[in-house]
Formats: sequence, structure tokens, C-alpha cells
Amino acid sequence: MKLAELGEFGLIDRIKANVAASPSVLLGIGDDAAALSPTPGQVTLITSDMLLEGVHFDLSFCDPHTLGRKSLSVNLSDVAAMGARPRHFLLGVALPKDVPLEFMDGFMAGMLEQAQRYGATLVGGDTCASKGGVAISVTALGEQRPELVVTRSGARPGDLVCVTGTVGDAAAGLKQLFQGVRDGFLVARQLDPTPRVEAGVALAEAGVVTAMIDVSDGVLQDLGHICEMSGVGARLELARLPLSEHYLAYCEGSHAPLAPWERDGGEGAATGKESPGDDPFALALSGGEDYELLFCIPADKEAEVAALCAKVDLPVSVIGAITAESGIQLAAPDGSPYTPPRRGFDHFGAD
Ligand code: ADP
Ligand code: MG
Repeated sequence: MKLAELGEFGLIDRIKANVAASPSVLLGIGDDAAALSPTPGQVTLITSDMLLEGVHFDLSFCDPHTLGRKSLSVNLSDVAAMGARPRHFLLGVALPKDVPLEFMDGFMAGMLEQAQRYGATLVGGDTCASKGGVAISVTALGEQRPELVVTRSGARPGDLVCVTGTVGDAAAGLKQLFQGVRDGFLVARQLDPTPRVEAGVALAEAGVVTAMIDVSDGVLQDLGHICEMSGVGARLELARLPLSEHYLAYCEGSHAPLAPWERDGGEGAATGKESPGDDPFALALSGGEDYELLFCIPADKEAEVAALCAKVDLPVSVIGAITAESGIQLAAPDGSPYTPPRRGFDHFGAD
């Protein structure tokens, strides 16, 4: 059965039938707007992300269920990066008329599974026909006490720079997908990232974090945002970057040079250290979509943060420190200065 046979309102009814009630939702899907009742004493954090076929996903790489999970996960990650708890979300979809009904059923099952896991309720959205590919827009709402919300702008010289989990996996997974690989750890990290909700909330509620961001565009790019908004710089030690064994094994076997679009400035920016095999740090610094949390803490909070992250079962690494001078300096494992071939992802950047 195609969507065209079900129609817009048939599809909305089908979505609605699978959404569980929640005490904070006075009016959910079905009216002109949803009515939500806020938790007393908390502010609402609201964030939105679009996923476009051909830009953010390729339907030949991922099944609808996994795409549904990721479409919500990337938004929950932004909520977590503010230290907030996900509560509600809206879903906008534009679908070509010939999309099979199983696509939307799989997509919604994945999305609602992830929603239930993280305590978010679908409260509305918009549905249109697309003359191009599939477009997805999710708006997520979270809550936190105002004094606990963590921004990008509070980093201070001397703070330690920390990151959860490992970095570079999702970017290596994307390279594998383009090489025809369809499963394994790295591909799963690309297609089905884990939003670090428990860690974000725990860090915020402990009051130990001065600035936080989720790593969607690469460690360098995202640390750059913290530095700019905090009016500081940073120094990173590459030897301390958390790299998974899967990532290192991938790099070990990958000696193809970087494509021009993988280098800052395209053509002319060759450094001689061009492949992940020759330089595993480049992709780990610039590769996006790991959705780990990158955050800053006062130097005397390191042990407390390690204990907090251990409690939510997530490794955390100190990778450098905040400096008063602007700019990000990188130190190679031998201590020499390191220049990356590429900074990170920018939608309007050079191809
Ligand atoms: P309107 O035309 O007044 O904007 P719609 O017909 O677009 O209303 O939507 C009807 C109801 O269904 C609204 O409550 C809306 O929030 C909800 N809705 C529409 N599309 C979706 C979707 N993709 N996911 C969840 N809820 C949706
Ligand atoms: Mg509408």
C-alpha cells in the first residue's frame, strides 16, 4: 500500500494510534496546536534539526526504522547538551507520494521506540507531499531548572576540556558505507547514534560543567563554537583523544588519500599526511555525527566528573584545557604542533 491511498489524515491517525498518553500533554496530536503543562520551576529548552534525503541520509544505506531512531536521537542530543531532560517533540515530514506505507510504519516504530527510551512524547507535527526526496524535521522540547541549564558560553581559562565516549567512529562509518560496507560497529555509530541524555542531565545537575555542546560537526568545529562563545581558546593533546579499537583498526587498513572535499580549502590544502592510515587524528578531529558530549569543567572537578560518567556507564576523557589566548592549538603525541587537514563540517563550506 502506498501513502497516497492512505492519505494525509489516514497517516496522521496511524501515527497518533501508536503514541502513548502522558500526564504533561493536555492536548496532543489532533487539534490545531498541542497544549503542554510545564513542570513547575523548570524552563523549556527547544531545538530543531532537519534531515534531508541526499544531504543527511541515503535510503540505500539505512532502513526506515534506524532512520526514525536517528531523526529523534540527533534532537535529543541537542537537548542533552543543554543539560535538559527530553519531554516532548514535534515531527514534520515531507514524503513523495509513492513512498510505501511500510516506510512510514518502520520509521515511526524506530522513532517512537527511541522516544519511549528517553521519555519524550510526540505531540504534533506537519505532513506534506514532497516533489523531491524525503525531508524530516524534528523539534524537541526539554526541561531543566533554569540555574542548571548549560550553555556554550561559560568556559574559562584553566578549565579542562572533556569528551564522552569515542570520536571519529561515525565519520569512519560513513566512509565505510560509501565503500559498500553495511554493518559493524562504525556503521552502527553513523546510522544509529546514541544521544547522551543521562550523562548530559547528570553533569548539569551536579553543577560541574561550565560549557557544553554535542559533537555533531566534529570535535574541532564544535570546540571552536564553545571557544568563540566563551571568548577563550583551547589546547588539545591528540594523544588523549579517545579513539575506539574499531576506529583504529579502520584507519590501520585505510591508506587511500582524503578526497578534495575532505580537506579544508579543497585542492591546495594537502599536508602530505593524507589518509586515515597515515594520520588517524584528522578524521577524529573533523568527523561529525558522533553525538558525544564535549564539555568544560574546572580543573578540580575531574574526579567528580569521572565518577558521574561511570555511574551512567559512559567513558569520559580529558583531552585538553581552555586557554586565555583565542584559537585552538593542537599538540601531536610527540608534543610538536599539529595542523589538521580539515576543521569540520559546514553546510555552506567549500565542497
Ligand atoms: P493544520 O492544518 O491545522 O496545521 P494538520 O492537519 O496539519 O493541522 O494536523 C492535524 C494534527 O495532526 C495536528 O495536531 C498536528 O500537530 C498533527 N500532525 C500532523 N502531522 C503530524 C506528524 N507528522 N506527526 C505528528 N503529528 C502530526
Ligand atoms: Mg498543518
